[in-house]
Order: sequence, then structure tokens, then C-alpha cells
Amino acid sequence: MKQSEYIELENRFGAHNYKPLDVVLSKGEGVWVWDVDGNKYLDCLSAYSAVNQGHCHPKIREAMIEQANKLTLTSRAFRNDQLAPLYQEICELTNSHKVLPMNSGAEAVESVIKTVRKWGYQVKGVPVDQAEIIVCEDNFHGRTITIVGFSTDPTSRTGFGPFTPGFKIIPFGDAEALEKAITPNTVGFLVEPIQGEAGVKIPASGYLRSCKAICEKHNIMLILDEIQTGLGRTGKLLAEEHDGIEADLTLVGKALSGGYYPVSAVLSNTEVMDVLQPGEHGSTFGGNPLACAIARAALKVLVEEGMVENAEKMGNYFLDLLKQIKNPLIKDVRGKGLMIGVEFKAEAGGARQYCEKLRERGLLCKETHDNIIRFAPPLVITKDIVDWAVERIQAVIG
Ligand SMILES: *Cc1c(COP(=O)(O)O)cnc(C)c1O
Repeated sequence: MKQSEYIELENRFGAHNYKPLDVVLSKGEGVWVWDVDGNKYLDCLSAYSAVNQGHCHPKIREAMIEQANKLTLTSRAFRNDQLAPLYQEICELTNSHKVLPMNSGAEAVESVIKTVRKWGYQVKGVPVDQAEIIVCEDNFHGRTITIVGFSTDPTSRTGFGPFTPGFKIIPFGDAEALEKAITPNTVGFLVEPIQGEAGVKIPASGYLRSCKAICEKHNIMLILDEIQTGLGRTGKLLAEEHDGIEADLTLVGKALSGGYYPVSAVLSNTEVMDVLQPGEHGSTFGGNPLACAIARAALKVLVEEGMVENAEKMGNYFLDLLKQIKNPLIKDVRGKGLMIGVEFKAEAGGARQYCEKLRERGLLCKETHDNIIRFAPPLVITKDIVDWAVERIQAVIG
């Protein structure tokens, strides 16, 4: 089939909840992907950071195939031999105490909301059904009813109510606003270390440290959504390390599987996880042996192949080169590690046009909101390929 035929079929039979670039991909390897006509592109989105390890990483593939030949799903009614090793490895790597495995990122977010609410009632002594969780403006935590209910993006939220109560919204990057919003019923503060979907919004250095101190003072749980920032993307294993803190609860997903399969987890740094009793929460696929084997391999290659350090090095290099591009329509160039945003002024007429032009030159990028392009290639990118990319970016936006 031709690309146009795939696109027509997709539009005819599929829900229209996405507006993808008109490129139909059929193959991936490392930082590269190919469309059905054989055109090759540099992937500058990495499936929103789910393929940090690069497309079709051979060692993750090997682990997946090996496990698929042995055992894929037991349900949690029984134990499996991949779960305990994953728990231990992820706890040692992230300095966590307890793990709750789920599948999608949104499920990890839902799970942490349930957990901190229960902790609030059982440990903190909040009156029944009064728990409050503080979140930030412009957040992105997923697409369930509860989660979109505390989104401030009208496109995510409009038309989907009624919503779950118990959330309070404050400005992002403002620790004072956090302290002001706390009441005796507050149980948690849920925040992204860097807001990815909002357009790579980076708070001032020390923000998370201040939040951590405030949370400690008021006995509330600091919950970091590291589903996008985590697992190397920002040049540290977890973005919280930039501020030298440890959250009480950390959410990981996306790159936890290197793109092979949905795997997410709530990592708990305190005994808060212990409030969950048998039967109170679960997931048929959460913690299945196939997912665990994939996650173990995905974490292993991330560390063993130095991808976190490479993200820092290549991120700094990429960002420096992008900052040298001269165009009066560019408002800001910012980033941490390989999570980079180029923001255009409103007069530029939107970033989508640049993404279309970059595609013609062999780079796949996605605009976020109207005026920002995010550059987030797999963490295995090399200096030569960054040079190759910047040449093309310069030609389109310079
Ligand atoms: C992608 C993402 C989610 C949701 O993950 P899904 O797997 O799409 O449900 C949550 N939080 C952040 C920060 C994300 O980037």
C-alpha cells in the first residue's frame, strides 16, 4: 500500500483523537525510523521519551523474545520469577523502598492518587473523603477522567465532566503558592520536575528542593511524575537529582520498557505504600513476567551503555548549537539533557509548519501547543548525528 492509502484507511476507520504528521512508519533502529516507502528519518520525539534506549534495542528485544517463549502472564493471583528481581533492581537503582507495578503512565498516576489518599486517612488522620492533592497549572499526567479533571488544558478537559473532586491547582514553579495552598487535609503535591507536554517548562533551580522542604514541614507527600523526565532523559537517571532531593513517591513509565510494551510503576520512598492491603488495588497485566523481563533489560542497557551520561553530554552540545541559530521569530531555546524546546513568537504563525519542513529534510519532530518544537531524540544519539540534525534545523528555522 502507498502512504496515502494507509492514511485514508486510518482516517476512515480510526477515531480521530490524533492529528499525526502524514508519515507512515514501518521500521526503526536506534535513533532512525523508516517509512513504508523506505525514507529514513531521525526520530526527535522518541515516542514522548518511551524509546530513550533507541528503537528496537537488540538486548531488550532478546529479553522480550526469551521471556515470550517461557511465560507471559500469570496474573498476580500467583507469583512469577521476574517480579522480585525487577523490584530489587529498580529499588537499588533509584534508591526506593517499594514498587507498585502498573502498565500505562496514567495508571501509575491513578495508583499514586489512591495510595496517598489512603495514607492521608490511615496515617495522617484526615477526615474521611476530605483528602486534598495539590497539582500545577499546565500539568500533563495522562488522560483518565480523574486526571483530565485536574488539567488546565481546555482541549484535554472540555466535554468530559463531571470530574473527581479533591484537587487544588497552583502555578508551576512557585513554591510559595504551594505553601499557601496547604490545608490540614492536604495529603500530597503532584508535580512534573519539568513540564514536557506544556512545552519543556523548566522551573528555577532549587524549586523541587523548596517543595520537598515544604512537604516535609507539613507532613504531605511529594509525588514526582517522572514518566517523561525520568530514566535518563534530562541527563540524570531521575530529574529530581538535579535538585539533590528524593521524592516520597516517584512515577516512572514510558522508557521503563524502552518502547516494547507498556510498563509503569509507582516507586515509594517511605512506608506510604504499606497502606495498601491485599485486594485494595491491582491490575491484571501489572507486574506480568513479560513486562518485568522487558523492564529489567530496559533499565540494564540504560545504565550499562552509559545512556544517562550521553544524554547530558549530547544534550548540552545540542542545546548550545540550537542557541546559536539566529532568527528574530525564536523566542526561547531551553532544555535539560536531551529534553529540549524551541519556542517561537506568536508572529511566526505556529511551529507545525517547521515540523512539516523538517520532515521533508529527514527529521521527525512534533510541535507542542502551538509555538514550541520539542527535540527529544533517543539517548543513544551521537555527536555526528547531532551535527547532521542541527544543519537541517538551521536550514529550516535559521
Ligand atoms: C506520557 C505521560 C503520562 C501518561 O502516560 P501514558 O502511558 O500515556 O498513560 C503521565 N505523565 C507524564 C509526565 C507523561 O509524559
